[in-house]
Amino acid sequence: MEELRLDAQLAARLRRATRAVALSGAGVSKESGLGTFRGAGGLWEDRRQTGSAATGDRRSRGRPEELATPEAFYRTPGKVWRWYAARYATAAAAAPNPAHHALARWESLFPSFLLVTQNVDDLHQRAGSRRLVALHGTLAEAVCDSCGRRRPMGEAVAASPAEPPECSVPGGGTGCRGRFRPAVVWFGESLPAAALETASRAAAACDLLLAAGTSALVYPAAGLIETALRAGACVVEINPEPTPFSRFAHLRLAAPAGTALPALTEAIASCRSMTG
Ligand SMILES: [Zn+2]
Repeated sequence: MEELRLDAQLAARLRRATRAVALSGAGVSKESGLGTFRGAGGLWEDRRQTGSAATGDRRSRGRPEELATPEAFYRTPGKVWRWYAARYATAAAAAPNPAHHALARWESLFPSFLLVTQNVDDLHQRAGSRRLVALHGTLAEAVCDSCGRRRPMGEAVAASPAEPPECSVPGGGTGCRGRFRPAVVWFGESLPAAALETASRAAAACDLLLAAGTSALVYPAAGLIETALRAGACVVEINPEPTPFSRFAHLRLAAPAGTALPALTEAIASCRSMTG
């Protein structure tokens, strides 16, 4: 994307903004080769890709909608575990793209900033983002389904590649007899309450909200954008396709996040460095 020119009114709002929130969705990780996630737990939408973790023999692997549920995990724990192990490996091998790096800069551009992501990969963290909440959990960790103990997914998979490992006290002992599962939110599960509360409060108090790479069709993304609009925030949308919020956005960039986000970030940085 070429240099982004902001009209004077918008530039003034971006210059004055002190509390910014960015909502990121699947589109932000797409240019890192992670396909398009959809819904809670981050499902692969584009299963035509070959060689990705989500493809292969569809009959033996099952449909994503049938694997990302607690029922599937308790019915066929090994199958769900191996599917997530493959997805984890794909995400771990991917690298942050310019959209992730641009968003990491937002922490130093605004006095207050929160990144709210629907993505379960950890590419934002690897790009340097620290002030973030992951609404749908993370592929990078496993969590005991009984006591809640967490461990790195890579370590859990290395210890037990075929079946979810049992929870045991490090160094021996009987442990809690629970099983490790991926630390993502599955269909039918509630979003983590603390993360949702933090995101809602930030959206209600922000004066700038960016929605990037999200179709904004599902709760809570749609609710957070609505909240920010009601609070009078300036809303910027980056998405190649129109969304239900496109007509309310004060600025809409119909482009992939990997090009639009760096251009927007440059424009904001340069208007905020101006005096007056
Ligand atoms: Zn446990």
